Amino acid sequence: MKNSPNLKPDYEVASLCLDFTNTVEWHASNQPIELLQNYADLLAWAEEKHLVDSEQVRILNELANQFRGKAGATYRKAIDLRETIYRIFAIIARDGMVANEDLHYLNDELVKSYANARIVQIEGEFTWMWREDVADLDRMLWPISNSAAQLLTSKELLGRVGQCADDRGCGYLFIDLSKNRSRKWCDINDCGNRAKQRRHYRKTQSK
Ligand SMILES: [Zn+2]
Repeated sequence: MKNSPNLKPDYEVASLCLDFTNTVEWHASNQPIELLQNYADLLAWAEEKHLVDSEQVRILNELANQFRGKAGATYRKAIDLRETIYRIFAIIARDGMVANEDLHYLNDELVKSYANARIVQIEGEFTWMWREDVADLDRMLWPISNSAAQLLTSKELLGRVGQCADDRGCGYLFIDLSKNRSRKWCDINDCGNRAKQRRHYRKTQSK
């Protein structure tokens, strides 16, 4: 199962929390664009990331329609968690100090997450899994906070956390897997290309 709790940190587990922060475009600007508008959007994102399967999506959508207040509360919790994770890793990307209140918030979420971690036996082997027995509206938050914990405690991966160098406030966070840690952009064809074009423009203008 993907994103099981307490796996040794690997790229897939650790990068999930940054993928979540990237559900806002222009995150570092004054006019961020929210890609998750409601609980259904959150659930669709979670399915895309294999945090829930199609059967769980069906059940959770039904529950969300039945308990709209609870689904709304989970949605707001998800956004709070996402913004906390964003602040934590954006400051780490700039070699700054993480705010204690953000770490406290994450720790509170981790207590809730790990309360849902179980050891199961599969073909004679034991492994960590998230609790499957109850349909919890906020079950997609468990692997997300776990991902942030895994990334924070992986010296190797944490040192590779970076943020798009775009000066308009792209804000995209990533784990730089390049050999010489030279990644600067969310996408070389997007912000990277724009920066190249601007350099080219300035060069041709100064001639
Ligand atoms: Zn960018």
